[in-house]
Amino acid sequence: MSSSGELHKRRLSAVAKGVGSVVSAYVDHAAGGTLTDVDGREWIDFASGIAVTSVGNSAPRVVEAVRAQVERFTHTCFMVAPYESYVAVCEQLIALTPGSFEKRAALFNSGAEAVENAVKIARHATGRPAVVVFDHAYHGRTNLTMALTAKNMPYKHRFGPFAPEVYRAPMSYPLRDGGLSGAEAARRAIDVIEKQVGGSNVAAVLIEPIQGEGGFVVPAPGFLPAIAAWARANGAVFVADEIQTGFARTGQWFASEHEAVEPDLITTAKGMGGGLPIAGVAGRAELMDAVHAGGLGGTYGGNPVACAAALAAVETIRELDLCAAAQRIETAIRGALSDLDPGVAELRGRGAMMAIELVLPGGTEPDPTRTAAVSKTCHDAGLLTLTCGTYGNVLRFLPPLVISDEHLGRGLGILRDALRT
Ligand SMILES: *Cc1c(COP(=O)(O)O)cnc(C)c1O
Repeated sequence: MSSSGELHKRRLSAVAKGVGSVVSAYVDHAAGGTLTDVDGREWIDFASGIAVTSVGNSAPRVVEAVRAQVERFTHTCFMVAPYESYVAVCEQLIALTPGSFEKRAALFNSGAEAVENAVKIARHATGRPAVVVFDHAYHGRTNLTMALTAKNMPYKHRFGPFAPEVYRAPMSYPLRDGGLSGAEAARRAIDVIEKQVGGSNVAAVLIEPIQGEGGFVVPAPGFLPAIAAWARANGAVFVADEIQTGFARTGQWFASEHEAVEPDLITTAKGMGGGLPIAGVAGRAELMDAVHAGGLGGTYGGNPVACAAALAAVETIRELDLCAAAQRIETAIRGALSDLDPGVAELRGRGAMMAIELVLPGGTEPDPTRTAAVSKTCHDAGLLTLTCGTYGNVLRFLPPLVISDEHLGRGLGILRDALRT
């Protein structure tokens, strides 16, 4: 087998530069909390492939379900010849997402595709054009979702022109908005929407209940319910992008539940498929069913192998009670990182979606240099961590929900050492 060094050389002459990697070690195999590279080195996994392998890599039920499905059939296209597992995944989405109203669901391949389809559905159902998104938002890399995403570098730079009728409102970001209450921050956002867009033009208000790439920003309590209530009062569709927060990541099946918000539509992907690519939109039946037959779909959407994996992932989350596991991970992270230096402005997040924001001591000036250095020190010590944030100064922790106490503790030890040096 080739070494990481050799593979890296091959990569340089084969893989486009625009596709980056966090580390230069190449993976040989992975489990529930560790990756082992081709040079035989074990890494502790605080990334989960960006919040995807919540049930662990090659989780036993997922492997078994995928193997059985691959032997039966690999693809028919649900739009050509349908199959049970697609229906079953939609049933699970309907049952698991918050909201006791009648729902429908549809399946896609990626998070960005789910977001695009939620916008299509909202526009079609309302007959309105405008989509409201928030500062620091991340919704994907396709043309429409680039427009919905806030940050220029690296996501949007020189990739325009972007889709029209996208409007950005201020987010509730307690560390950086002077500590506005949820209600005050919502009032500020609603003022912008009403003055600059007009309530009757808004098809959808799209928001991550906890922002992902934008910095694991947890809005002040009351912000999400107030925005959702405004959307309802104005006939706009409230869409929760739960692609990163969904499927037990934050200690509930969906992060909207922490504030008892019932979104009209929810987008899901990442943790949904146990490592296989699958995404969904679920929500109010009258919105989902408003679209004419043939208006939604795609060749691979709800591929049978991915559906089998998703059903096995849901079963795993349920049987191992991974919502409770995420809560235990939060407690462990809060315990280990409670007494940090003044350069750590905030430890925030929910469940196994936690982060620290690094600043220059004495203020809130972002410190992306230290963030990158701490991250590199972690990597050198065998802990896979990710950074995020509009200012590149947030270290985020997304361990698999099945990580052992031992690996979690070792990872947190490496992190504490890295922060001290
Ligand atoms: C990752 C992510 C997306 C995009 O998902 P892809 O599968 O990469 O297209 C959209 N929204 C949020 C909140 C995400 O975290």
